Amino acid sequence: EDIRVYEFAEACGKSPAEVIKVLFSLGMMVTKNDFLKQDELEILGEEFGIEVTVKDALEDVNYVESYEGEEVDTGSFITRPPVVTIMGHVDHGKTSLLDKIRSSKVASGEAGGITQHINSYTVVKNGQKITFVDTPGHEAFSAMRTRGANVTDIIIIVVAADDGVKAQTEEVISHAKASGCPIIVAMNKMDKESANPDMVKAQMAERNLTPIDWGGDIEFIGVSARTGEGVEDLLENILIQAELLDLKADPTAKAKATVIEASLEKGRGPVANVIVQNGTLRVGDNIVCDTTFGRVKAITNDMGEIVKELGLSETGTVLGLNDVPTTGSSLISMDTEKEVRDIANTRAEHARAKELSKSTKVSLEEMSGLIAEGKMKQLPVIIKADVGGSLEAIKGSLEKIANDEVKVKVVHAAVGGITESDIVLASASSGCIILGFNVRPTGAVKAKAKADGVEINTYSIIYDLLDDVKNALSGMMSAVI
Ligand code: GDP
Repeated sequence: EDIRVYEFAEACGKSPAEVIKVLFSLGMMVTKNDFLKQDELEILGEEFGIEVTVKDALEDVNYVESYEGEEVDTGSFITRPPVVTIMGHVDHGKTSLLDKIRSSKVASGEAGGITQHINSYTVVKNGQKITFVDTPGHEAFSAMRTRGANVTDIIIIVVAADDGVKAQTEEVISHAKASGCPIIVAMNKMDKESANPDMVKAQMAERNLTPIDWGGDIEFIGVSARTGEGVEDLLENILIQAELLDLKADPTAKAKATVIEASLEKGRGPVANVIVQNGTLRVGDNIVCDTTFGRVKAITNDMGEIVKELGLSETGTVLGLNDVPTTGSSLISMDTEKEVRDIANTRAEHARAKELSKSTKVSLEEMSGLIAEGKMKQLPVIIKADVGGSLEAIKGSLEKIANDEVKVKVVHAAVGGITESDIVLASASSGCIILGFNVRPTGAVKAKAKADGVEINTYSIIYDLLDDVKNALSGMMSAVI
């Protein structure tokens, strides 16, 4: 709140020009002394890949994952239930285990109603709640994480004790480790005669998940989704881990939830299956989720019952959004309908502008066509070179290349490798290409360039670079670079 363009640029290590470019490209006219609005800050955060904490309307809903104790008012913070994700190789019993845990914890009268597998639920063990979430797979799990949806506190890796570590177990291990969540290994199918827990332990230890009884720090629990053996033990271990994590959140805050699944249902409209991460979600709340918004019309809990609210770490389905939100997006409650509509609309606009700017990106080759047709008056370029001498030489030569109607416009020239911020800058200047001399983009930068539709050309001979640009300008270039 109340931050000027140049202050923001300073705070995130960008030049004011870069900040202004991003906003200009979205049709937002600002100068360096202007104050940034909340939506502009959000957009800039997204563009620059940095986390912008907007203290204002969103202040109350910032999810406090682990409370440190200094700055925040502790008054309303309470311990929240852990959220657990189960992952494992196909057929190792992930679904069976989730169903067993659920049915073993549900009062018998209600259990009869549970025939179908559902993808999230809360159980009570020793008077404490635990929420389980079934993500469609470990890729989906990581995809949600890259979108900032860190719903999971603890990961259980299921390994069939008669089968051991398999290809997908390996993948799951990588995803689990990358998440930084504590891991518990559930060795399933212990009821089978061929079960060999020591084999599982050895294979996991080889992958740096060493059992506690072997001197490591990972809990291995033998279970059977068929007989229920070990399930209580597993739940107890989850509670121990949760206690170590000291998970806190504020039930009095405005709700922040994460969408774990969403669909359009006949007669009900958009339905979002959510898990509450902070605050309390209530019927009647004004909510925004991704580019969708609305008012909570109805909530159904994990038992399929109609309820008035969902508390911390609880899951259920929400009716009332005007469209189907993306999986992994945050659902947030706000005071007024205007707020949620404005935010959703701004996001939608931003998404459209991004799409548009992508589709107007052209390659050097296409550019020459446009220039030939007289549609392009200038060719914007970003030059990156290994040394200052080459950079000056290239810049100087490029600025001299011009014919009657067209010229090169150097948007940015600097010594150094091609970075993500160059891509951001290029995407913000329509048709801009990046020319690298003796520098190459890293894989991550290449991927971003591809995603944003930015062309990068690299050279090690100055003449080649100049020739390409000359050809483009004269509209004669036909060869693909
Ligand atoms: P998922 O692909 O990991 O979800 O695995 P499923 O839960 O679908 O289980 C795969 C198969 O293993 C099914 O035929 C289950 O009945 C069986 N299964 C799962 N858990 C156990 C167990 O603890 N013991 C035995 N004997 N079979 C199990």
